[in-house]
Amino acid sequence: MGSLKIENIRKSFGQVDVLKGIDLEVKDGEFVIFVGPSGCGKSTLLRVIAGLEDATSGDILIDGKKVNNTPPAKRGIAMVFQTYALYPHLSVRDNMGLGLKQAGKPSDEIKERIGIASNMLSLGDYLERRPAELSGGQRQRVAIGRAIVREPQLFLFDEPLSNLDAALRVNTRIEIARLHRQLKATMIYVTHDQVEAMTLADKIVVLNRGKIEQVGSPMELYNSPQTVFVAGFIGSPQ
Ligand code: ADP
Ligand code: MG
Repeated sequence: MGSLKIENIRKSFGQVDVLKGIDLEVKDGEFVIFVGPSGCGKSTLLRVIAGLEDATSGDILIDGKKVNNTPPAKRGIAMVFQTYALYPHLSVRDNMGLGLKQAGKPSDEIKERIGIASNMLSLGDYLERRPAELSGGQRQRVAIGRAIVREPQLFLFDEPLSNLDAALRVNTRIEIARLHRQLKATMIYVTHDQVEAMTLADKIVVLNRGKIEQVGSPMELYNSPQTVFVAGFIGSPQ
């Protein structure tokens, strides 16, 4: 299971109100895209969902259970960052397995899960390499693999493809769509890219200045934008 409910989430940094009352429901298995201009609060919202940041007020529920006080490692969530955040001194295998090792999983189970994830991501031949010996696209696949081995119910992706060149972006996007079908997990994915949003999403959430402007399927937003802002964001090329 991986359903998510966000109830009236507010987040301020000092005097600055970054999230101004966010309400959202995400169904188990849904692919939800967050779009919105730089600085509107997308990463902050992901970090609050993941538990990396405490909300100022409001509740996060996973499968109906309030997780406000649940530490990140116990929320059943894995997050993939734009910058990959791999350990340079560790091999691909150890980057992927470190979290499981820290969680006390037995080494044969770690090996098996790494085997499955590296097959899914075509990383089988690269397991003993270090990140510096990989291309950008391969590094991002390792970061995705590290998320998969934890078998989360909910994946959070923060602009995972924005450091890749155009061709690799397309390939990796197709790969993420395939993983979504294969893993049947819930995915929340932040992007600036309109094509990514339109092709990947079951549901798009348009954020602006810490508030939700509109939520709907790609076609709903495209055909019936409720505000000029949404029309500008979805209707015309970025
Ligand atoms: P986005 O991901 O949509 O570009 P962010 O969530 O990163 O936006 O940031 C939203 C706003 O919150 C920005 O104005 C940013 O400067 C501010 N912000 C984010 N994190 C912090 C922090 N740790 N301390 C202070 N301000 C922050
Ligand atoms: Mg961001």
